[in-house]
Amino acid sequence: MEKYVLPQLAYNYSALEPHISGRIMELHHDKHHGTYVANANMTLERLAEARAKEDFASILALERALAFNVSGHVLHSTFWQNLSPKAGGEPSGELAEQIRRDFGSFASFKRQMTAAASTVMGSGWGALVWEPLAQRLMTVQIYDHQSNITQGGVPLMVLDAWEHAFYLQYENRKTDFFEATWNLWNWQDIARRFAEAKGLTLKLVGAAA
Ligand code: MN
Repeated sequence: MEKYVLPQLAYNYSALEPHISGRIMELHHDKHHGTYVANANMTLERLAEARAKEDFASILALERALAFNVSGHVLHSTFWQNLSPKAGGEPSGELAEQIRRDFGSFASFKRQMTAAASTVMGSGWGALVWEPLAQRLMTVQIYDHQSNITQGGVPLMVLDAWEHAFYLQYENRKTDFFEATWNLWNWQDIARRFAEAKGLTLKLVGAAA
């Protein structure tokens, strides 16, 4: 069976300082993300056992646990790649044009993305998503790791709003953390995800062939 694997960071823990401390990055990657990966793998094993026994009540609970842990793995893996030392600024090219089309301006998008993260109730994420049915970019809130998701939407840029993402450094000043991330967004990575998501032809809606 294929296992989930904790990816290496492409930069040192302290590379995102002063915006995100090395200690936060170390704990966040090794312990928090690492636990989602370990729990995803453990859940897969238990799921196989429950399926062998046709223990349907356990299967339902385990599938819910798997959705939480795999989604946590996906979001954190995306977040690490979305960030880069000495990045920030504004995107260019097709992504910049699409942001202008769907949000009016980069400044307006930035305010919406920051608001999506900072107004999450409880634990969650703010995200920029490509919505393939309407063919547009949307900002969304994701509760925990997987609730409030529009099926078919592809997350391009995700911002962790769980307290473990900032509390050690920013304490209760979470908006300061979200503002600081604008020095770190790797627009090259986000633009690549946008180009790939736009190219998907999933035929999510429409007449059967
Ligand atoms: Mn996190």
